[in-house]
Amino acid sequence: MPNPPTAAAIVVAAGRGLRAGPGGPKQYRMLAGEPVIARAMAPFCRHPAIGAVQPVRNPDDAEIFDQALQGLTYRPAVSGGATRQASVRAGLEALAAAGAPPDVVLIHDAARPFVSAAVISRAIEAAGRTGAALPVVPVTDTIKQVTPSGDVGATPDRATLRSAQTPQAFRFDLILEAHRRAAREGREDFTDDAALAEWAGLTVATFEGDVANMKLTTPEDFAREEARLGAALGDIRTGTGYDVHAFGDGDHLMLCGVRVPYHRGFLAHSDGDVGLHALVDAILGALADGDIGSHFPPSDPQWKGAASDRFVAYAMGKVAERGGRVAHLEVTMICEAPKIGPLREAMRERIAEITGLPVGRVAVKATTSERLGFTGRQEGIAATASATIRLPWSD
Ligand code: MG
Repeated sequence: MPNPPTAAAIVVAAGRGLRAGPGGPKQYRMLAGEPVIARAMAPFCRHPAIGAVQPVRNPDDAEIFDQALQGLTYRPAVSGGATRQASVRAGLEALAAAGAPPDVVLIHDAARPFVSAAVISRAIEAAGRTGAALPVVPVTDTIKQVTPSGDVGATPDRATLRSAQTPQAFRFDLILEAHRRAAREGREDFTDDAALAEWAGLTVATFEGDVANMKLTTPEDFAREEARLGAALGDIRTGTGYDVHAFGDGDHLMLCGVRVPYHRGFLAHSDGDVGLHALVDAILGALADGDIGSHFPPSDPQWKGAASDRFVAYAMGKVAERGGRVAHLEVTMICEAPKIGPLREAMRERIAEITGLPVGRVAVKATTSERLGFTGRQEGIAATASATIRLPWSD
């Protein structure tokens, strides 16, 4: 076995998750704004020692699966079987058929969204060293064995007990052969791969798991973890922005990312989209990170005629870099004409598209200035904006 071994991961997502209550398979539900399965797979996709990630999903879930995992790189998903064991075997066979099978394979449940890079590293190391290993954590409750009538039959010594987690990790050739043999012999009842490996005669070692690497099973698990993750983004900030552009020659205006035919254009270095410029300043303001001019100097020729959705995407990227989320965006357009009311929904949808937010988190409002001042004289358009963002507490 080379050191370090080559490694692949199988993420099993074919189950229906019925114990987690209504709302569809639990692995596709949102947890603090991100699908559970994306949280479970991303640490493998991003781990430098994992060469390939092989997901196994239910054939009925193709569309929701692709949607949930946008932005991650993984092997084409294969369809699972009737049992978890059959699904894992489908993943192993897919890796075997792909050529150049890995030295070791990690098998992970999509319902464990908090797996860390450190646990993955320990799994690869343990599989390379022992051939078969699983992450465990100490049991904190005293465990009772009960009789069919509900009486205590025995109290096992807690010091000898561990809770089993995933990713369970194996030499690829050993676990593939064990799964094939179990299928040949009609054994389809193993609930985890370590039990199957034991049955196949392998010695299964343990390595240090992580109490945070819990499995989401019940509605209460979802509610508790949602609350925990929400509290972790408790640094709530509001930023505001303001922008003005004068009319010049032209035949259209860019307003909140929407192209609006008009008998004037904007005098501006970029496309002059006052709504989006105010929004960028609002987001940067909430981050206390300068303003649109400091990030995109008007003196820099590369921004000449630039579409302003790029500036918004950049500001959203700054929020993501800080581990934050945008809770709400609002723009108020101040002009006599064009009329904003009929454009409002298109503007909200465009901002939602640029930012990746649900449209319910985007507000667009409009007012005139009662024919007073430069907007009243129709010399240009002004816009104000606010952004509410949530960041992890850092100080
Ligand atoms: Mg501007």
